[in-house]
Amino acid sequence: MGFGEFLGNERIVHALRTMLRRERMPNALLFVGLQGIGKFTLARMLAQAANCEKLRDDFCGACETCKKIARLGDPGPLIEQGLAERGENPDTATVERTPLILETHPDVWAIVPDPVRRKNPVARPMIRMGQLRAVQRAAYFVPQARRRIFILDGAETMRWNDADVCLKILEEPPETASLILLAPRADALLQTIRSRCLTFWFAPITPEKIEQFLRNRSEWSGTERKLAAQLADGSPGAALGLDLAESARLRREVLGLISDSMSGKSYRAIFSATVRLAKEESEPFENVLPLFYSFFADLLELSHSTKNFALRNPDLRRELETLARKISDVWVAQATSNLDRLEGRLRRNVSRQLGLDAVAESLRI
Ligand SMILES: [Zn+2]
Repeated sequence: MGFGEFLGNERIVHALRTMLRRERMPNALLFVGLQGIGKFTLARMLAQAANCEKLRDDFCGACETCKKIARLGDPGPLIEQGLAERGENPDTATVERTPLILETHPDVWAIVPDPVRRKNPVARPMIRMGQLRAVQRAAYFVPQARRRIFILDGAETMRWNDADVCLKILEEPPETASLILLAPRADALLQTIRSRCLTFWFAPITPEKIEQFLRNRSEWSGTERKLAAQLADGSPGAALGLDLAESARLRREVLGLISDSMSGKSYRAIFSATVRLAKEESEPFENVLPLFYSFFADLLELSHSTKNFALRNPDLRRELETLARKISDVWVAQATSNLDRLEGRLRRNVSRQLGLDAVAESLRI
């Protein structure tokens, strides 16, 4: 048990341990990095180390304090419990009055974007004013152990107006508490908040390390682990959450569309494929577009090199090799820039169907 179990980003771990050893924990830290890269895990470990009954710059995992805080590692049931206690179909006032707070030890809170489940869902999950006010009140309490830690997961979901509450805490920093903000990108937060945080950028984890990490945590075969590590794009959490069969199905669908469009198949065949993709419900559409990019990158590599490099889609190597013989750099450049434009249009809510048809059309050789 301890920081030694954390995967990758050793330099960040080292810096945090040094702070703990010197008893110089900042009031505000910002962890920036991909979804699933380990920001929440490391924040939870830091909360354990800041309060462990036995150790000072690490955590034992065995004392009562460590064990209680460790339960935050599985937030799902805690979120369900919080929502159940709030009652069915709550109105806005109730949501703000009974903020969703995950607490398994009195000194350590995890705040996650509130998924507010109503009969008519109104908004995407976000950190709400009620949650921030609760943190503001609790931040100045004297800790029972050594330090109060507030982990704000999905800090980028705060409304900018509500973020003022967060800013107030950072402007009058409590002596015995630290806020740890987690976000995918630093620029998703207000500059005034960012400037008061000590920021740590989490680097992607290598596929080799992810493969190793999956060894004790999945039922997958060696080949499947290798594939998952390659598809995870540097995020062990994403690798763990992968549905390999579903991923293969979706990627085949996208590659099929690319291939049909290139070979100038009939409009009807292409149209039926884009209709299916535009309606893809298991994946948000934003997750489908990166698949196109990953295929373009593989095709470009394959058309240039005969060496054995790591494909992003190693399970589709044979199909990709066939396609790669037909394309040129110009084609890839054009396909990529068309996709960039489509992404921009999707942000402005142009029909996915029309956008995909346009991309398919542009792939013709
Ligand atoms: Zn301990």
